[in-house]
Amino acid sequence: MGSVVTVAQQQEHRTATVEQGRFCLARCTCGWRGPARRARSLARTDADGHAREHEAAGR
Ligand SMILES: [Zn+2]
Repeated sequence: MGSVVTVAQQQEHRTATVEQGRFCLARCTCGWRGPARRARSLARTDADGHAREHEAAGR
């Protein structure tokens, strides 16, 4: 007893920004997609916030 380890909890959240026409949006390896932004800096901010959210929720 006491040796149950869950490996599935180690899901990485690698975010990247994708350009779509005149817009830019954030994407994550978990399947999440951010809203389309006009500025890439905003998309990166979305990605950053998403990763942080998951970090906070994972604990
Ligand atoms: Zn994610």
